[in-house]
Amino acid sequence: MNNRYDIAIVGSGVAGLSAALNAKIRNKSFIVFGSREMSTKLIKAPSINNYLGFPGRSGEELRGEFANHLESMGIEITEEKINNIYPMGEYYALMANDKMYEASSLILATGVNFGKPFSGEDEFLGRGVGYCATCDAPLYKNKTVTIISYNKHDEAEANYVSDLASKVYYVPMYKDKVEVNKSIQVVNDIPLAIRGENSVNKLVMKNSEIETDGLFILRDSISPGQLVPGLKIADNHVEVDRLMKTNLPGCFAAGDVVGAPYQYIKAAGEGNIASLSAVSYLNNLKK
Ligand SMILES: Cc1cc2nc3c(=O)[nH]c(=O)nc-3n(C[C@H](O)[C@H](O)[C@H](O)COP(=O)(O)OP(=O)(O)OC[C@H]3O[C@@H](n4cnc5c(N)ncnc54)[C@H](O)[C@@H]3O)c2cc1C
Repeated sequence: MNNRYDIAIVGSGVAGLSAALNAKIRNKSFIVFGSREMSTKLIKAPSINNYLGFPGRSGEELRGEFANHLESMGIEITEEKINNIYPMGEYYALMANDKMYEASSLILATGVNFGKPFSGEDEFLGRGVGYCATCDAPLYKNKTVTIISYNKHDEAEANYVSDLASKVYYVPMYKDKVEVNKSIQVVNDIPLAIRGENSVNKLVMKNSEIETDGLFILRDSISPGQLVPGLKIADNHVEVDRLMKTNLPGCFAAGDVVGAPYQYIKAAGEGNIASLSAVSYLNNLKK
């Protein structure tokens, strides 16, 4: 895809969507990556009392308001998970499975991932452990692959892998009904540790073990340090200044990903600032 956007916004929670509003108002070309459901965290709140103007609304209701707002402004969310982002000097290259997008500036609004990595995850990352099943599936032709998935959306990724691998185990970490291809073996257990020698060979769970050649962990968000090489991280969050600038030129961040307090209204405000900062960065580029 050769179309270079002014701004790529990664994340469709409050921070990313607030950034999108300003990008639209400032007449920049932009793309928002995430899910049309917006954010799983957004809809979890039973009753929100600290978001100005919407007392007592549930997260689900707030999402409805956001959807109306986006629709009224003609903003759409592109349903893609970004697996890697490469700073290319004058632009950023964003990889989503087999597609590449380009943007002159970047806003990271990916939220925060509360889960700790599994024991062995960091050790075997790139040695049988990966975060993008569709990217790496060809490596596992006629092999055994295990997928730990945190979102029903990722069932499609498992189905794709099952066309290539000889055996796929699917460990769902969500409560929705699992609807994957019949050839996939669904394992309802709790993953504890990833083991191997030169590369991964086993997933140890609470009640059972799986011998596997590859293991994909499909979380809602990838840690920002892994997503963007060279990005400065402090205390597990992206380091930003008051203008939401990161250490990388043209890269801004907002919302939970930059730190506590984890609150909608903070995420919305920071998304706004990040977007305005991206606009002035773009305007300076033109000078
Ligand atoms: C149960 C619960 C109740 C809460 N109640 C309240 C409350 O009452 N009041 C309050 O202020 N806050 C509350 N919060 C906190 C609030 O939900 C968060 O602060 C807010 O959602 C943060 O917004 P965000 O946009 O930074 O991130 P998120 O809402 O986490 O959104 C991030 C989005 O980015 C997407 N994403 C991540 N990585 C990628 C990628 N690589 N490619 C594409 N998309 C990606 C994710 O899928 C997600 O859609 C609550 C949270 C929970 C869990």
